[in-house]
Amino acid sequence: MRCDHCANDVPDGVFCTRCGAHQGTTGELRGARSREHNYAAHPSEPVVQPSVFTTLFPHLGRQKVHEFRWAFAVGIAGIVVLYGAGLIAAAILVAIFLVPVLYLIYLYEAQVYRDAPATVLGFTIGGGVVIGLVVTLIERAVYNPYSGVGNPLRGAGLAAGTLLFLGVLVPVVQEVLKPLPALFLPNRADFPETVDGVVFGIAAGIGFSVAESLVSFSTALTSLPAYMTPGNWIYQLATLAVFQPLLQGSATGMIAAAVWRYRRGRLAGRELGAVGIAVGAHIAFSLGTQLLRDVAAAQLFVLVWQAAIVAGVLVYVRYLLHHSLLEEAAHMGYAETVCANCHMHIVASGFCPNCGMALTAAPTSVKRARKPASSV
Ligand SMILES: [Zn+2]
Ligand SMILES: [Zn+2]
Repeated sequence: MRCDHCANDVPDGVFCTRCGAHQGTTGELRGARSREHNYAAHPSEPVVQPSVFTTLFPHLGRQKVHEFRWAFAVGIAGIVVLYGAGLIAAAILVAIFLVPVLYLIYLYEAQVYRDAPATVLGFTIGGGVVIGLVVTLIERAVYNPYSGVGNPLRGAGLAAGTLLFLGVLVPVVQEVLKPLPALFLPNRADFPETVDGVVFGIAAGIGFSVAESLVSFSTALTSLPAYMTPGNWIYQLATLAVFQPLLQGSATGMIAAAVWRYRRGRLAGRELGAVGIAVGAHIAFSLGTQLLRDVAAAQLFVLVWQAAIVAGVLVYVRYLLHHSLLEEAAHMGYAETVCANCHMHIVASGFCPNCGMALTAAPTSVKRARKPASSV
């Protein structure tokens, strides 16, 4: 059949395998082309959905996503158990490493790095850790909140200068420096797709977040007794385990995506918006957190604020990724493959004709198993 949207002759299917457009809807051409109800990396979800794993772990098949959700839930439960038992230092350590370890497993699982694991992991996660250490130690030299003992963030009111430093200057500097390891990846020419750039940016951001959290909590980790009454550490643990790494990772993922798009000559409003939103969201996150803590607002509001910002950033990452995947679907040649999302055996080019998944977002093992189809 002939696709209404790209005018190529394509095999019958719900989605066009060349351009990804939803077929059979002649009335609403634009909507079928951009198919916002079927997110290109996970077509069973709409684009506008603040889902963590299908956004930040785009190469995972449907089954694997569930496994990662479970592992994350188990990690969170472990933190709550440690907290309840009064093992705060242990809970802090688990919180710092939960998301980074899951991301490392994801990179391995999907083999996003293809043949160069050492270079890619070293330059993204490793580079992020190094920059995170240097930047956070310099921040510490300028401003150290650990003047007293105990929970440091419940101190007296912050001066305006400190607020500007922590709430505006630090986020801006971090957003400039965090993406650098991903952007200067030596073998970046092997990874022309924006979906890979996003993942490398996220990895660098998460690496940064580990180092930042370790330095920030080093005093607490070394000075806290092994066992203590739980207190209200649970709120800081939630920030540490969930919102901080997700914000740092997705903000850097967006900036890396914008640079990848620029290298492809596709820099437009959507990409510039991503840079603006990454910096703006980071400022809102840090400044809002400082201000809410400053007025002694209930700690729960701090978490609600952080969750709202992270959700907004996640949706923008998806929006960016969705349109990149739709636009960048090169004609990969018709090949027999198995869709990582719907598990159907398909003969396809750029998109699964059955569920509409962009096959550039498939795990490397699936891409390598493509067998050229002799006839369509
Ligand atoms: Zn088409
Ligand atoms: Zn499929």
